[in-house]
Amino acid sequence: MESGMISVDKWSSGSQVYFLTHLHADHTVGLSSRWSRAPLFCSRVTAKFFPSKFPGFDLSLLRVVEIGRWHSLSLVSPTSGSATTVSVMAIDANHCPGSLMYLFRGEFGCMLYTGDFRWEKSSNTVEVGRTILLDALKNEKLDILYLDNTYCNPRYSFPSREVAARQIVDIITAHPKHDIIIGIDSLGKEDLLRYISRTLNIKIWVWPERLQIMHLLGFHDIFTTKTSLTRVRAVPRYSFSIETLEGLNTLCPTIGIMPSGLPWAVKAVKGNENVFGSSCSTSGLNKSNGNMDFANGSKTLEPNGDLRGIERYCEYIYTVAYSDHSCFAEIHEFIELLRPINMKGIVSSSPSYIDPHYFFGHLCGTKQAFWRLHQKLDNEERLEKVETVEIKSTIGGTSSVAGRKRKRDQYDFLGRVSRVSLLRRLGHGVRIADI
Ligand SMILES: [Zn+2]
Repeated sequence: MESGMISVDKWSSGSQVYFLTHLHADHTVGLSSRWSRAPLFCSRVTAKFFPSKFPGFDLSLLRVVEIGRWHSLSLVSPTSGSATTVSVMAIDANHCPGSLMYLFRGEFGCMLYTGDFRWEKSSNTVEVGRTILLDALKNEKLDILYLDNTYCNPRYSFPSREVAARQIVDIITAHPKHDIIIGIDSLGKEDLLRYISRTLNIKIWVWPERLQIMHLLGFHDIFTTKTSLTRVRAVPRYSFSIETLEGLNTLCPTIGIMPSGLPWAVKAVKGNENVFGSSCSTSGLNKSNGNMDFANGSKTLEPNGDLRGIERYCEYIYTVAYSDHSCFAEIHEFIELLRPINMKGIVSSSPSYIDPHYFFGHLCGTKQAFWRLHQKLDNEERLEKVETVEIKSTIGGTSSVAGRKRKRDQYDFLGRVSRVSLLRRLGHGVRIADI
């Protein structure tokens, strides 16, 4: 194996330059305040977070990549040992603040690393990204696509974030006397929170570290750390659990909303049944008339269009498919646009991993039909495993993943959510010359 030249979201030694797509924890495993291996390229927004995220980090290592223009890097070829030039262009990944995809061109060919991305048709950012990519590639073939395959399965069908945000506002409006908590990560979902604030003319509580991040992003008036100023609180995802909601409800009527693309998968697997076990029997959908019965029968709303992606989990919790990752149809559209010669999913260490070739091999290079034939059986076995894991994780308070039992509080309230993020933490990053 050659020694490395470029690493993306991978922080071990051996590369001449390093690229960071975005600051979610599963992409920064191995990156720390003391890390100082080589220049680190990232977006301007991501660079802004470094002093608070990694106090003491040597900021002189950071290189800001501007979106939509080629940057030239003078490196040493790991094959010949002579000087070589690599060009890189960044494209907005439409995932969380500062998130980028990277398009590389060099002696290794042409490669695109998506990081986590959301390829929403309705998004202006995606429209710009599409133009940048097509202009950059022109008639050149994309040799390898490193793809965010989080939801690379037809069962993952959910609406745009715009639609999901309206659904969340509808749920909040239908609970005028309730406190509301919304589970979020340390970065991302800002647009959702701002939309809620603007539509309902209400401030949003966040925890102190999150307020700092909001201020760094330039949001100074919407967010607060004073609970007395609002009934809507955005809380860390890890603290969002059925136990927390039960505890809060002994003090004050409270509902929880979890914005995530994942729960919808369960619905697709199990249909409109009671998929959450015997203790949780209420679905958010009133199927007899198609209306959404938000408040347990006391109030029925006419929803604003698309109902996909809403589930009610027990008495207190709704999940809404507000996703920062592309759904299956969007992944399809993206691959169809680029038609790479080869591709590789970046979420790999997982029993739920389905090689993207299984569904999209026909859109790739010439040998895919042969590949597909020979991989079919193997992938069908994997699909079976996924279904088993997902079904198991809907039952009871513990989840069984690949034969190992884990406590629910290690997962989040549905188990599946943090199982995937755990697997994602294991699965990211690539060193280009190693592939
Ligand atoms: Zn991410």
